[in-house]
Amino acid sequence: MIVEVVVDVPTMQTDRRYDYLVPERLESIIESGLRVVVPFGPRKVQGFVLAVKHESSVKKGKLKELADVLDGKPVLTQELLELGEWLTDETLCFQVSAYQAMLPAAMRTKVIKQLRLLTEVDKLPSAIRPYFQTQDAITWETLANERKEVLQHVKSALNEQLLEWTYVVEDKGRKKTERITVQLSHVNKDEGLEQIPKRAKKQRDMWLFLAEQGGRYPSLSLIEALETTRATLKGLMDKGLVKEIEEEVYRDPFLEKDVERTEPLPLTIAQQNVATPIARSIEENRHEPFLLHGVTGSGKTEIYLQAINRVLAKGKQAIVLVPEISLTPQMVHRFRSRFGSKVAVMHSGLSVGEKYDEWRKIHRREVQVVVGARSAIFAPFENLGIIIIDEEHESTYKQEEAPRYHARDVAMFRGRYHRCPVILGSATPALESYARAKKGVYTLLSLTERVNDRPMPTVEVVDMREELRGGNRSMFSEALFSKLKQRLERGEQSVLFLNRRGYSTFVMCRDCGYVATCEHCDISLTYHRSNHSLKCHYCGHEEPMPKVCKSCGSEHIRFFGSGTQKVEEELTKVLPEARVIRMDVDTTRKKGAHEQLLKQFGQGEADILLGTQMIAKGLDFPNITLVGILAADAMLHLPDFRATERTFQLLSQVSGRAGRHTLPGEVVVQTYSPDHYSIELVKQHDYLSYFETEMMYRRQGGYPPYYYLTLIHISHSQITKVIDVSEKIVRFLREQLDDRAIVLGPVVSPIARINDRYRYQCLIKYKNEPELSRILREIRQHFLQETSRGELQVNIDRQPYLFM
Ligand code: ADP
Ligand code: ZN
Ligand code: ZN
Repeated sequence: MIVEVVVDVPTMQTDRRYDYLVPERLESIIESGLRVVVPFGPRKVQGFVLAVKHESSVKKGKLKELADVLDGKPVLTQELLELGEWLTDETLCFQVSAYQAMLPAAMRTKVIKQLRLLTEVDKLPSAIRPYFQTQDAITWETLANERKEVLQHVKSALNEQLLEWTYVVEDKGRKKTERITVQLSHVNKDEGLEQIPKRAKKQRDMWLFLAEQGGRYPSLSLIEALETTRATLKGLMDKGLVKEIEEEVYRDPFLEKDVERTEPLPLTIAQQNVATPIARSIEENRHEPFLLHGVTGSGKTEIYLQAINRVLAKGKQAIVLVPEISLTPQMVHRFRSRFGSKVAVMHSGLSVGEKYDEWRKIHRREVQVVVGARSAIFAPFENLGIIIIDEEHESTYKQEEAPRYHARDVAMFRGRYHRCPVILGSATPALESYARAKKGVYTLLSLTERVNDRPMPTVEVVDMREELRGGNRSMFSEALFSKLKQRLERGEQSVLFLNRRGYSTFVMCRDCGYVATCEHCDISLTYHRSNHSLKCHYCGHEEPMPKVCKSCGSEHIRFFGSGTQKVEEELTKVLPEARVIRMDVDTTRKKGAHEQLLKQFGQGEADILLGTQMIAKGLDFPNITLVGILAADAMLHLPDFRATERTFQLLSQVSGRAGRHTLPGEVVVQTYSPDHYSIELVKQHDYLSYFETEMMYRRQGGYPPYYYLTLIHISHSQITKVIDVSEKIVRFLREQLDDRAIVLGPVVSPIARINDRYRYQCLIKYKNEPELSRILREIRQHFLQETSRGELQVNIDRQPYLFM
């Protein structure tokens, strides 16, 4: 037996399959999708089995033998194996990187493999019983020299779930265990009691308690319940009446316990119109992509929940993607209260171990729904019934390192494979998505009103230049200030949003205009108040806040710009009676801090919630009647063709937080560009007009969805080298590509240097280039020697979202 293996040595030369001979003793265990250990040069490396076969083009004597198997059950299904090939092709990544992206990080670290007993030892086939007489788990090495028959029994015991294959992951990924006291099966209650002397009352109590509890109980709780000590337990053990075992428990990443269950709400007519076609696609097992365009508060989430209900009723599974889920505990709560323990949650806020646990719940089919951030799209479900991407326009769905995939594309692949619907939901769909819906590639579903005729909030746009002319130098306009005051008087809540992107605090000399910049990157440093230092957000460089200007020596060096801390300070000055909760990276660093702060706000412990991007999504509190946006145009002028789209989306999102329940909502937008269409049209909640306007600009500029883009980034520590390579690449592209394709550059990247590496880029715009993949691969191959040594970097992004 021979296997094709892709090995974990991600360089181009090794991005192919290698054949290995399977030692006879492992033959009964080998399947595709398993992780294995194989000899590779002088080392042993991890790899994935892609296929099992009987012939190889390599001569028998030359084939090396597989060293070991790391899994009992494939960690990659046939579907995921195919998806990996597709990803490799689409994103030009190494195949092994594609597979690694699908698995939790814990599975990459060093593991010690174990076989664990899941049942009574007497239920095991007699050939393997001896191994588990005295222990619940044995290491794989114990069986290393066993005969083939023994391994076959192991395999069937694995299949029957009598045994399971587990890994003790080194460091963080370790499984969490709990000690359980178990009554030994050969003694019954009365026999046991006879063996305990009358005066050992505690022991008798414990024995009886244990019997009442069905013969097993967590040791710690047992000792606690009987208000005794371990000595009592020890006494029972010494008499051979009980034993203690270690049992695995899942880490619980949720702070809240015992979630109250909710029932499906009767749908409104508008919701029914949307739910019906989705239900049809589910019932007919048909792949259909839907774009659910629904204004904020129109009841999209309820639609998701009921569609999932239908999927679960068919015995299938559901994936729900939410942007940066750790930031929206309310969303998770809604899924948990509808589906209880059927839900796994996966997001970046979890520890390595927690992620591993959540993944295993899916792998073992213990859950049917996963709610998670981008990478949850790879959940190893085998019978998917629906995929939902909420806030589908969010750029966090694009991964900015290899494999540079977009979750939307992966969702479509999986939807086709499983013949199930994919729902893209948003109040402000990405331009590309809405254009596809208009062309009929996606089925468009619209919810134009909020549930139960709740009105959309009224939006007032304030021109901050006027404010300045009128003598108001504070960061709050007259209008916003008086409305904030009003809310305080009425006991209602407000949200203040500061768009921090492109608006951080920088340090400038008032005498000569010198701005403190990072010595390794061409970017200004950001002032951090907590430790009075300057930090580079690109390379992490940190230095103390200077006392005098580095350029002219003046002492008049100050920080400028307006961070959340500064807003908070100003608030306490102008509205001293207001209770403020601030939410930004600094106040939410601690685990669970988000939930805690939001909970406090929800319970009315503050009047004003002040925050950055992280408060834009998912907030749903009845008492919020005012939303203030402090600097609406902060990112309007970034060098990125999506800057206006992001502005419109973000403003619509934030506005949507107001007046979601019975109290009507108001929004105040402060800006220096009141006439810009992306701000004007937020006022009217007019996505369609926004779409038409933006499409016009995209056509003029030759941007998506009219053109496809590919961005190539070149960086090196020597500027001459960067320029040289960039020019070579551009020349080659112009030679190879169709005349209608446009190659822009090479030009200096908007951030010309990061971490002492100079950066150049070039952008390809094209409509139809069937050969592009091959051409790009050739480029990568050409510079391979230099890039694999790490001096030169050539990054190719087939669907760029970051242009900095
Ligand atoms: P969206 O996801 O579009 O922002 P939600 O699903 O959060 O909208 O719905 C907004 C509010 O309306 C929520 O408080 C939700 O509980 C409520 N809601 C949704 N559907 C219904 C319904 N059919 N009947 C009553 N209330 C509903
Ligand atoms: Zn730096
Ligand atoms: Zn100076």
